[in-house]
Amino acid sequence: MNDKTGTLYIVATPIGNLDDITLRAINILKDVDLIAAEDTRHSLKLLNHLNISKPLVSYHRHNETTKTDVLIKDLKIGKNIALISDAGTPGISDPGEEIIKKCIEENIKIVPIPGACAMINALICSGLDTTEFIFIGFLPLNKKNRNEKLEEIKNANKTIILYEAPHKIKSTLQDLKCFLEDREVVLARELTKIHEEFIRGNIDEIIDKTENIKGEIVLIIEKNFNINKEDAFDNLTLEDHYKLYEKQGFSKKEIIKKIAKDKNVNKNEIYKKFVKK
Ligand code: SAM
Repeated sequence: MNDKTGTLYIVATPIGNLDDITLRAINILKDVDLIAAEDTRHSLKLLNHLNISKPLVSYHRHNETTKTDVLIKDLKIGKNIALISDAGTPGISDPGEEIIKKCIEENIKIVPIPGACAMINALICSGLDTTEFIFIGFLPLNKKNRNEKLEEIKNANKTIILYEAPHKIKSTLQDLKCFLEDREVVLARELTKIHEEFIRGNIDEIIDKTENIKGEIVLIIEKNFNINKEDAFDNLTLEDHYKLYEKQGFSKKEIIKKIAKDKNVNKNEIYKKFVKK
């Protein structure tokens, strides 16, 4: 990092109520040279509300790769840039990951400016277990990938968080019903807005209560209490099980020992599968 290089600020913006922006976020938006926004017209409303006038460039899913290169060049000549999305925290079901990876590669400083995020606010008011949770974001649309994800949700012994669009919520709830049967669900709608509400019940009750539902939605699904760690491991292929521990930094020897313990089999059996193939 040379002295001239700029900084990329990842700035959270409101998810509805325009007051939900921190003083630090406002100051950063005022101070940077450039704001990269998912939808410049949408973000202009927020910036006008905050009396901030700054050069805005678009940075969205469809121009992420080309715009990343342009923004990296700007950062390298010393410009400070704020990345914002339409709502909430960039990078959470929103663009951000690509430029952040590139900044890390290029040794450019990245600074998070915390703030609103729909999934966290839905989770904290859900009344479901907040100690451990899995954020899925939007379910895949491709049938095979979707079913695999639903299977993962079925077997998860952690609270699950999903994002969904109102016009797809009915079919998503039906899919959840097929896989999870009567699990408790909390549907958090229009968070921080006038019509904010939390609808709670089992999947059938939620289906009944959400006919023609509108607005933005987060679904929080109760964890599977009937699954223990061993059952969860049984659902992993040996390769995935191996990768899981590899990612956690265990050595080959330790991984084999751990898998043997999880699956309750002799470690030589696992050893043969991985080492003596
Ligand atoms: N980056 C955002 C965040 O930090 O939450 C999420 C962006 S994602 C493209 C948009 C989805 O987030 C919506 O479809 C909805 O599921 C959820 N969402 C965003 N704002 C919300 C709100 N005010 N109430 C409920 N859900 C919201």
